[in-house]
Amino acid sequence: MSIYPTLTNKTYVVMGIANKRSIAWAIAKTLDEAGAKLVLTYAAERFKSGLESLAAELKGDALLLECDVTNDEAIDTTFKTIHEQAGEIQGIAHSIAFADKEALRGEFSEMTRGQFAQALDISAYSLTAVVKAAKPYFAADAAVITLTYLGGERVVPNYNLMGVAKAALDSSVTYLANEYGPQGVRVNAISAGPIRTLSAKGVGDFNSILSELEQKAPLRRNVSAEEVASTALFLLSSMGSGVTGEVIHVDSGYHIL
Ligand code: NDP
Repeated sequence: MSIYPTLTNKTYVVMGIANKRSIAWAIAKTLDEAGAKLVLTYAAERFKSGLESLAAELKGDALLLECDVTNDEAIDTTFKTIHEQAGEIQGIAHSIAFADKEALRGEFSEMTRGQFAQALDISAYSLTAVVKAAKPYFAADAAVITLTYLGGERVVPNYNLMGVAKAALDSSVTYLANEYGPQGVRVNAISAGPIRTLSAKGVGDFNSILSELEQKAPLRRNVSAEEVASTALFLLSSMGSGVTGEVIHVDSGYHIL
């Protein structure tokens, strides 16, 4: 018997699959395993064929839709289409971030106003934009998760601008949880330990972040995207029904140090 809760006939939207290393891809595979109907969104047309090849590996058919989260009209259209084609939305996994990599190394204050605005827009505001657009289509007990990182709670070398973006994201989670709770919708974050992905490559000296965790975290090892995905499944399913406004650290316990 499967250890997974059954998500059969429930629609989940997974945003932020760049490739097979993406945390969002591990989440999609786990939700698929649990029987969910998946909608996968991608940032621009050029990413479509890569995502199509990945989606072919899933057990169920997935609906693929373009959604650049810097564009409010695109977000509205995406969620309207999701509702038309896949019914009410049981959950959303928001796994999206971006910052100019020049601002992810060196001195924090060397960043520009433009780099700040872009990183906060894509990495933090987009969560609120997405939740707002999905509001009319949420199931009565829907759940939303986003991906955050310890660098938003305290200084992590080189994380710089993205740390500020994650702090804004974490705070957005609490305000959204409070606003949408009366409607039955839960909003949570997973603070993942460092995982080698395309985005992670942009962070200066990322290898040191990985080896520091391996040496010092209580579990003395790094985490996998699959471990993050298991926590995502918990939060996005009825198993997490009493949890909202929370940040769960999936980081081998490193955050307690
Ligand atoms: P990926 O690079 O695989 O995923 C980032 C995703 O963000 C990509 O799919 C990218 O799409 C998408 N994205 C960027 N800009 C836009 C946009 N304008 N519209 C829509 N999508 C956009 O890296 P990860 O899987 O590592 O990152 C996922 C999340 O996990 C991020 O929030 C990240 O900060 C967080 N996280 C990652 C950790 C790690 O160590 N890897 C640790 C803790 C948190 P595209 O490439 O197609 O532009």
